[in-house]
Amino acid sequence: MEIYLARTQGFCAGVASAVDIVEMALEKYGAPLYVYHEIVHNTYVVNDFRKRGVVFVEDIETIPDGERIIFSAHGIPPEVINKAKAKNLKFVDATCPLVTKVHNEAVKFSQREYETVLIGHKGHQELIGTSGYVDPKVLHIIEKEQDVDALTIDPGQEVAYLTQTTLSVDETKGIIEKLKNKFPRLVAPPRSDICYATQNRQDAVKELARMCDIIIICGSPNSSNSNRLRETGENEGVSSYIIDRADELDIKILAGHKKIGISSGASVPRLIVDELINKIKAEYPKTIVHTFDNPEKNIVFKLPNLKVLE
Ligand code: SF4
Repeated sequence: MEIYLARTQGFCAGVASAVDIVEMALEKYGAPLYVYHEIVHNTYVVNDFRKRGVVFVEDIETIPDGERIIFSAHGIPPEVINKAKAKNLKFVDATCPLVTKVHNEAVKFSQREYETVLIGHKGHQELIGTSGYVDPKVLHIIEKEQDVDALTIDPGQEVAYLTQTTLSVDETKGIIEKLKNKFPRLVAPPRSDICYATQNRQDAVKELARMCDIIIICGSPNSSNSNRLRETGENEGVSSYIIDRADELDIKILAGHKKIGISSGASVPRLIVDELINKIKAEYPKTIVHTFDNPEKNIVFKLPNLKVLE
């Protein structure tokens, strides 16, 4: 049995800094520390923080006035910030800078009064956050190519689009092509909103698909980018599975396979992948693990100043 570990996988710079912010705030100020929404979409990370006194909330109103709160990496609509201010909460915004970039584009498009098509998964925290920066009068949310047909915007108008950062690169291209055909004056964001980490992880799974006969993705069920990795493997013609923890892997699915590709979503800590490798090695002790040079190893985002929590 051979294992091939995807070249780029696991924590991206946005997730790493969000997790570091919570770690540092917890260490400095202790529990309880409030976090708005799951800091990142990973069951292990969230449960581990929960055990150490982090309280995850979906409604700012449930937090006692004056407490400390961190906003998750996915971003928040402006109304959440306003509510936090009204309750005198001390807050640090752990929104990934690449999500903030999309918020800024949304504001610019709305200032120009462009009808704005937001491509993403309805109900996902990032989409809820970004929607809050688009004037509701010009906001249109779509998820898939067929939704373009249902848009009732005048085709002669300037129409802008934005996307969630963690979508399938290939599927999103199809949606954008369809938008271009329907709206000849379509305005694109200056640079793709799908972030470098999403693009690199999907490319790395395509690379695995060329070498492997089965792919296993580590990622939680609510992790958008992890689910897209499983779909990428399937779309490349290789049976692909997603598991939250190693104990979810039914080892029988590996029977008859020789080359296992393993990757993990941008919110997945390395120890989850190590658990999976150990589980496979326990069943197939002669397993060899192949790794590749990771082009992302020097990407880090600057942390915000935590003094505002004092
Ligand atoms: S997946 Fe991309 S946008 Fe999301 S936190 Fe990571 S770097 Fe930021």
